Amino acid sequence: MPVGTGLITQQAMYQAAYEVNRRAAIAVPKDGLLAYQKALERESKPLARFILAQICLNYQLAVAEGRPMCGDTGLPRYYVKIGNEARLEGGFVALERALRQAVADVTRDIQLRANRVHPLTRKNPGNNVGVFAPNVDYSFEPDADWVDITAVHKGGLFGTDYRMLFPGDGIEGIKRFFLDNLAEFARRGLSCPPVTIGIGIGGTKDQAVRLSKEAACLRVQGDRHPDPVVARLEEELTELGNRTGFGVMGVGGDVTVLDVHIEIAYTHTGGTPVGISQFCHAYRRATARIYPDGRIEYRDDPQWFTPYYRREGIA
Ligand code: SF4
Repeated sequence: MPVGTGLITQQAMYQAAYEVNRRAAIAVPKDGLLAYQKALERESKPLARFILAQICLNYQLAVAEGRPMCGDTGLPRYYVKIGNEARLEGGFVALERALRQAVADVTRDIQLRANRVHPLTRKNPGNNVGVFAPNVDYSFEPDADWVDITAVHKGGLFGTDYRMLFPGDGIEGIKRFFLDNLAEFARRGLSCPPVTIGIGIGGTKDQAVRLSKEAACLRVQGDRHPDPVVARLEEELTELGNRTGFGVMGVGGDVTVLDVHIEIAYTHTGGTPVGISQFCHAYRRATARIYPDGRIEYRDDPQWFTPYYRREGIA
């Protein structure tokens, strides 16, 4: 592997893409472990306590046995942040080939469930790779020569929803949508609560849904938005979600929502698009940073929402 050439090699991209995909399927990141431990401590209902304890035990067994923590390994997806000064051997096409190959190889090696099928024929290629699969989303970072690859195995299929609100609906309208979404999915255990909820407010319809998913999957537990108005709403909705009492897997309990993360985008003056995504208790993600000298560092926090990524103004 060339060192000091300033080139991020294809081998390093593949290695990082493989490893984050493997880790994401097996090991819950530290912030999630801590959050579920705290949920267990504050849960007062016996059945909910029992299930939460089994979830925590399952996390340990998955790591000990090197096997996916849930039989449903979701839809593997990548988020890639590229430093503005980074140079990639083979360019972006080589990066995408590495990501796709890694998904196929990890599916084979650790038995990810082959979830990706043709939406009409339901034909299954058996390796989680196909038309527009896996999802790959990109962002960029100034003054950086590295590439970050984050793998997310997003479960909670049924927890995603969208609603166009009028500006007059205000915060109360957002709360109503939030509660409707919880009632629709969490109370029936369809999104496998306790969930981490991402909400995208504003932008366009597609932006609101995309931001909701990124907010659910790419911010650590307890993280608050830098805008105090948004941060206050995150705390208020977390409390409101837990007051519903739906509890773990909808059996009733004190903990339905681990955390709420909200992202905003400037929007049309006539409307407020809102997207909601639920990230289930198979809380799965892992990140690697590849440096041009060949080093690869693994970490739990994707550091996706940088000040540059959320930038305001024209700069
Ligand atoms: S929603 Fe999550 S915990 Fe439930 S089956 Fe799917 S991946 Fe597993």
